[in-house]
Amino acid sequence: MDEENGYRIVSPEFNASDADSEISLRPKTLDEYIGQAKVKENLKIYMDAAKDRREPLDHVLLYGPPGLGKTTLAGIIANTMGVQMRITSGPAIGITGDLVGLLTNLDEGDVLFIDEIHRLSRQVEEILYPAMEDNAIDLITGKGPSARSIRLDTKRFTLVGATTRAGQLTAPLRDRFGIILRLELYTPYELAEIIKRSARILNIQIDEDGALEIASRSRGTPRIANRLLKRTRDFAQVMGSGIITEKDARTALSKMEIDELGLDNIDRLILTSMINNYGGGPVGLETIAASTGEEAVTIEDVYEPYLMQIGFLARTPRGRIVTDAAYLHLGIEKKA
Ligand code: ADP
Repeated sequence: MDEENGYRIVSPEFNASDADSEISLRPKTLDEYIGQAKVKENLKIYMDAAKDRREPLDHVLLYGPPGLGKTTLAGIIANTMGVQMRITSGPAIGITGDLVGLLTNLDEGDVLFIDEIHRLSRQVEEILYPAMEDNAIDLITGKGPSARSIRLDTKRFTLVGATTRAGQLTAPLRDRFGIILRLELYTPYELAEIIKRSARILNIQIDEDGALEIASRSRGTPRIANRLLKRTRDFAQVMGSGIITEKDARTALSKMEIDELGLDNIDRLILTSMINNYGGGPVGLETIAASTGEEAVTIEDVYEPYLMQIGFLARTPRGRIVTDAAYLHLGIEKKA
């Protein structure tokens, strides 16, 4: 945790420290967007084809852990298609009227980006279905025998929905997306490219090894990579070095208590509590949550994807288990 600001530095979720640079660091075109080769390749074909037909792009569902570039991709789609993007989120659309307002204000072809789309209420979702399918909104006015349904037309638009958990989307909503793209955690090499790009934009000097050192501790997540770059710059500046080297990066990151693999105290707590209290598993998600004081959804969305990617945690039908690689990394001997 960052004591002063009350947030965890390796949290992939957006926080106040990202606000100043997040807009300037966001790639605006697919060419600037690093990594996610498969997603880019497919999206390019879909966008070229839609432009050829002079039609809006089909509705797109983006899913994957936070901080991987879903909002960025939505912006790239709007930019490439030459339209405006309106941004909202599932929890922000409280009543159906909010969504009706948004939909009726869209111009032809616009992108409507709904973050955390799995958190839309059922009533709001029902408004979306005909809008996505027939560019229409069905409103009921009045009550009882005098109730009437009126149909409003909307412009053709592209809904870009983002979610960390595609499994939580209702089937009717999921089925209405023509394009479903899954974002993967980035490799350290891709993250190093992102870090070098961000450093150029922010006027930070960093060498190749410095970038790779930060990259390999960024949990596969561009948002964390950019954040660690900025914090490392602070350390390098105070330590008097003009250019961030591997050594600067190491010193800065260990001061932030982020280890060589990007794990922080909470990751270590999850693993050690599983080892100490449950012999390394199998342990159920709720039990892990209770014994670490973290919420189950946070563990599932934020910690687990990375611990699984680096092979420290595995899921079995009976629960989560800590792997041998994690014991080795933590320096804990496995009991027979
Ligand atoms: P999400 O919506 O998935 O939480 P964002 O789109 O907000 O993530 O991305 C977080 C930050 O990471 C952005 O400010 C952007 O600078 C950076 N970023 C994400 N993906 C990429 C990428 N592929 N290439 C370069 N920078 C990226």
